[in-house]
Amino acid sequence: MSSGNAVVVVGSGLAGYNVARELRKLDAEVPLVVISRDAAGFYSKPMLSNALASKKTPATLVMKDAAKMAAEINARIVSNTGVQSIDTQAQTLTLSDGEVLPYRDLVLALGADPLRLPLQGDAADTVLSVNDLDDFARFAEALDTAAGGQPAKRVAILGAGLIGCEFANDLLAREIQPTVFDLAERALPRLLPPEASARLQAKLEAGGATFRFGTGVSAVNRGANGLVLTLSDGSTVEADVVLSAVGLRPRTHLAAEAGILTGQGIMVDRQLATNRAHVYALGDCAEVDGHCLPYVMPLMQQARALAATLAGKPTPVSYPAMPVVVKTPAWPTVVCPPSARAEGQWKVVSSDEAIEARFVSSANPDQLLGFVLQGKAVSQRQALAGQVPSLLS
Ligand code: FAD
Repeated sequence: MSSGNAVVVVGSGLAGYNVARELRKLDAEVPLVVISRDAAGFYSKPMLSNALASKKTPATLVMKDAAKMAAEINARIVSNTGVQSIDTQAQTLTLSDGEVLPYRDLVLALGADPLRLPLQGDAADTVLSVNDLDDFARFAEALDTAAGGQPAKRVAILGAGLIGCEFANDLLAREIQPTVFDLAERALPRLLPPEASARLQAKLEAGGATFRFGTGVSAVNRGANGLVLTLSDGSTVEADVVLSAVGLRPRTHLAAEAGILTGQGIMVDRQLATNRAHVYALGDCAEVDGHCLPYVMPLMQQARALAATLAGKPTPVSYPAMPVVVKTPAWPTVVCPPSARAEGQWKVVSSDEAIEARFVSSANPDQLLGFVLQGKAVSQRQALAGQVPSLLS
């Protein structure tokens, strides 16, 4: 397949494969190339944080391997190969194996890197984070063998955000009692009002988790009985495995080196276009019209819009209200965060079985700007989502 007139997608995560699939629905002919520095198997990343409970392995998480994906979307898939540089003038990419690949249109779906805390200690390099299949394989292996060749019993999680709480819940399924550390004072502080944080914490604690708030971890060392974490108050705690879940940073380096504008993410307009002609970005790496939303629903909206643009019908992305399910079966939770610029306050109705928190506008208390539903209230997700204004209409 000649690629001088090809659409080249860099990245085989949900963003890369979804835009490729959507484009194929609209254009059966255009040469399509997907390049990935990983094995390019198709998998659902959200399943990484409930794989233990669902007894998934790194192998069974892969729904389709690269060869199946190549056949399905009629594309050349270049796996285990990184893109090293982009020449936006010549419209070419240089790959890690030296190939220079021309493109008609380039789609960057590069994802995001886990943030790393600046930890001291001789075992700081053993701290894991789980952001892709290879990471999950290392985590699963550590859980099986970290306690002197025996299954881990003690897991320390750094970060009580969405991912940290999901892993805490999932570890309970393996009868591991995790300890979650966070410098903040409560769980998911950016997404939940205090009552909802407290209830989620209480439910996870009832299942066997422990939370240490207002406590950072400064060092991880090897000890006689496993790993020894030094906390910000100078005390120490032992663990078999340490998992870091303190956030992600969009991968912008490759784009910035090519002269593409970057801010928090690779900056694109509502047509997912960068400042360089024929170069687009979507998914976790992209900052779309000022918004970085590292979740699946936004990237599905982006993929559909970008595919239409690439197929010849310029289409801006729109964002309806997009609730996110927090995968904590110990206390089911759905969040639909108000936009960062929204002005208002939380109105919380709480019972033993449910919490319904509505974020209403200061100017008009009848206007719902976001919500959190927990317990039995999660069934109201669609009804409330319909009342929240679109983020990008
Ligand atoms: P990625 O999946 O990270 O893909 C990036 C791709 O780019 C990879 O294939 C990588 O190999 C490739 N790449 C990077 N650099 C290069 C290079 N230089 N050359 C070649 N290839 C390159 N969201 C939800 O909405 N709901 C959830 O329940 C949820 N749960 C989650 C649980 C976990 C544990 C995690 C980590 C995230 C979760 N998310 C969830 C977020 C969601 O999974 C992500 O927003 C989404 O998967 C991002 O997809 P992506 O394709 O943008 O990035």
